[in-house]
Amino acid sequence: MSGPDDRPGRTGPGGLAVCAPLRFEARAVRRGLADAARGTGGGTRGAAGGAGFEVLATGMGARRSRAAAERLRASDAGAVAIAGTCGGLAPGLEPGDLVVATVVIGPDGRRVSCPAAPLLAGQLRRAGLRVHEGPVATVRGLHDAAGRSRALDRGAIAVDMESSYLIEGAAGRPAVVLRAVSDTPRRPLLRPGGMAGGVAALRSLRLAGPALAAWAAATSPREVLLAGPRSFCAGVERAIEIVERALDGSTAPVYVRKQIVHNTHVVSGLEQRGAVFVDELTEVPDGATVVFSAHGVAPSVRAEASRRSLDTIDATCPLVAKVHAEARRFATDGYLVALIGHAGHEEVDGTLGEAPGAMTLVQTVADVAALEPADPAKVAYLMQTTLSAEEAGVILDALLERFPGARGPGSDDICYATTNRQQAVRAIADDADVVLVAGSANSSNSKRLVETAERAGVRAYLIDDTGDIELGWLTGASTVGITAGASAPPAVVSQIVAALSGLGSVQVGERVAATESIRFGLPKEVRQS
Ligand code: SF4
Repeated sequence: MSGPDDRPGRTGPGGLAVCAPLRFEARAVRRGLADAARGTGGGTRGAAGGAGFEVLATGMGARRSRAAAERLRASDAGAVAIAGTCGGLAPGLEPGDLVVATVVIGPDGRRVSCPAAPLLAGQLRRAGLRVHEGPVATVRGLHDAAGRSRALDRGAIAVDMESSYLIEGAAGRPAVVLRAVSDTPRRPLLRPGGMAGGVAALRSLRLAGPALAAWAAATSPREVLLAGPRSFCAGVERAIEIVERALDGSTAPVYVRKQIVHNTHVVSGLEQRGAVFVDELTEVPDGATVVFSAHGVAPSVRAEASRRSLDTIDATCPLVAKVHAEARRFATDGYLVALIGHAGHEEVDGTLGEAPGAMTLVQTVADVAALEPADPAKVAYLMQTTLSAEEAGVILDALLERFPGARGPGSDDICYATTNRQQAVRAIADDADVVLVAGSANSSNSKRLVETAERAGVRAYLIDDTGDIELGWLTGASTVGITAGASAPPAVVSQIVAALSGLGSVQVGERVAATESIRFGLPKEVRQS
């Protein structure tokens, strides 16, 4: 199927070479990339980092693909994409769905990994396309039933006839494999109405053009600067271990009030192990076991649990419990306690609940000005543990200016983990073109890391995982800083680094601002489990 116009070499050094087996597949991709260059169909301008792109109709099957791979190997393209249609194998795949290969499996079982898959898949999803990530296997022919069966056994979610040969031609350059489902076992291509699947697949290939262009534009060798410390703190590790031990030691359901820590991956991992997350105790059956989250609870929640005869296990971080104790002490001594924090955060709700009549939330300098203590000589302040030191400092200065004798906690309420992670992100911000902060949208300390990096003058983005990374953030970024909030699993950082390696060679360094060795003991209820 390849012809004189389909030979690589006109891409321009560093450009994107797209291998599409059939001419109509090549045409769909070419139109999609042209849409991207015009800024239509998704809004990404300038395909392939400005170095141009070339779409090659490389021909169907093993022989033509091997020959095309040889030509590709000799070309000066900077990045390689393999795009075309495929047969869907896994349940849930429908004609028109896109498949981004995480691994390409050859007919002989040889596997080539595609680390950038989550980045491309995320970009496609944000464009509104239905996308699946997983292994794609190359089979010997359209009717290779044995090959399809082997592919399924090897974990493939889709099959094609070329990718495993073509990807060899990438020869270490950044490469992705993007396939659009034309048929599935339920909707075979060579049956009446089957061609509609092919049409849907070609339409999806065209719509994928802007994401493909964005991927190519982001390809480049780069440096990755990791902030140290990052990721789990002692309070989060303890809270997760408490739930795991409670699950291991119980045949009955284990309920957890609120997210145990503010991270979607942690919560879904524990859900898969059997934990049942609820918002309120009313959702917990009488007599059941319930774990209180790391953010702490108000005494009224404990009282309700006791009244309902619930078995409670308290995963409140000891450093949050310390703030609760301070609140009780100041309130008992007749102080008005100003809690510096953010409204609606579970930790703040729990702390305020210790002495509702004696405490008030202060979020801004204006809130300080509005304080009306019965006795200005009896004002105390406390802080949410996960605040930005700078932000809290401004409010505290205003409070001390108005109430010079205001009493504070014996030791800082902003915890060691928050402080260390903010110092660490500052240490990488100066040298990074962009900072990625792993953490969920409701994670206070993760959001503060974004703000801290931004205050240091660098673009910073909060991402739950690799799939949230907008490829445009990385275009032209030769140094990417990475950190993670105290509730974000370390594995997410490893996955981000791995995905970046799919955009070009990556040199990883770490700036360690502090070392941590703190561990907290477990509550008695789970010590023996
Ligand atoms: S961030 Fe600080 S207060 Fe929160 S769980 Fe971790 S150590 Fe405890």
